[in-house]
Amino acid sequence: MFIYTHVPFCLSHCIYCDFYVQLEKYGGKTGFMDSLLNEFTQRLKMQQVIPAEGHHALDSLYVGGGTPSLLQASELRRLIQAVLKYTELTALSELTLEANPGAMKDSPERYLDIGFNRVSVGVQSFNNTELRRLSRIHRAEDAVVFIKNLKTAGFENISIDLMYGLPDQTLDSWRQTLEQTLKLDVSHVSMYGLKVEEGTPLERLVAMGAYPMPNEETHVAMYFEGITMLKSAGFEHYEFSNFARSGCVSRHNLNYWDNGEFLALGPSAHGYMNEVRYETVRDLAGWKTNPLAGTRHKCSPKEQLENALIFGLRKRKGVHITELEMRHQINFHERYGHILKKYEAENCFHLKDGYLRLNLSAIPVSNALLAEFLD
Ligand code: SF4
Repeated sequence: MFIYTHVPFCLSHCIYCDFYVQLEKYGGKTGFMDSLLNEFTQRLKMQQVIPAEGHHALDSLYVGGGTPSLLQASELRRLIQAVLKYTELTALSELTLEANPGAMKDSPERYLDIGFNRVSVGVQSFNNTELRRLSRIHRAEDAVVFIKNLKTAGFENISIDLMYGLPDQTLDSWRQTLEQTLKLDVSHVSMYGLKVEEGTPLERLVAMGAYPMPNEETHVAMYFEGITMLKSAGFEHYEFSNFARSGCVSRHNLNYWDNGEFLALGPSAHGYMNEVRYETVRDLAGWKTNPLAGTRHKCSPKEQLENALIFGLRKRKGVHITELEMRHQINFHERYGHILKKYEAENCFHLKDGYLRLNLSAIPVSNALLAEFLD
């Protein structure tokens, strides 16, 4: 079983962020865990996934946000205990806590003790000017100390989130961020190009010309520089934006790109169970009152096929064509052969050993390519 929980609390709201976030100083944490556990049991019943106790293997519990490390370990222990009432830990169970430097309520040891075996740290950059521009509250040196403390506490599986294409960022400063990342010797790196989201303060600052953004060419060069440096350091590039040391590919992430089902809990959480994609309400008080409210969409067989292709082609391994054909009862080449033909000259797709994948050079234009598979 795969479970995701959204913990919306943050110390401040970063100017580029469009996640549902509630500032910690405005309260809301009281009773949050009670509501989360209430939703968990209600949803298990409603989704008819309630097993005999301890029946399902726990594949992954991902506590994301927001900044879930603002919850005390004693609170998070309640969540883990509730989950383990219905699932069993295995050697492969992945329990991830998202954390931000300078925003962890208890010592790292406490989070390790209650069962987390992976921490995903929102670093974004090791350049203080860039961090300030993003309105992040930590400095580069805080992030370095934070990660070292996680390691000292005993966390062996640490992931760092980085962003490129930042205001005023240069290829050189991006290289320095990557070099610092490699020095910290973590097991997983996610690197995402900064997207200027609609309605965010960043959008207004960019529109005013206050925040010069790297041009498209530099953005692409940064992406490929990241790939080159991380791969040279021994990381496996397993998804467009994700890199892992041997044995540290994220199970939570991989399930998502495999179009696998997962239970999602918390305000503004997106889940996928029994072929239904759902989103809970984007409001803490509203969610507390009715955690099962929100939107629901039953995916048609066609949508399931399209999702399997669009998510699956993000994996560097690609999509296994025979498996896809069997699962979705289609003839791939009859249905999509014309797309492969259309892009043959540009060498965008690669078919080998039964897998279809995007060539590396085609990733920067992947949005347009993947859209071809949508009816
Ligand atoms: S810390 Fe993360 S979730 Fe919180 S506001 Fe900043 S980017 Fe958004």
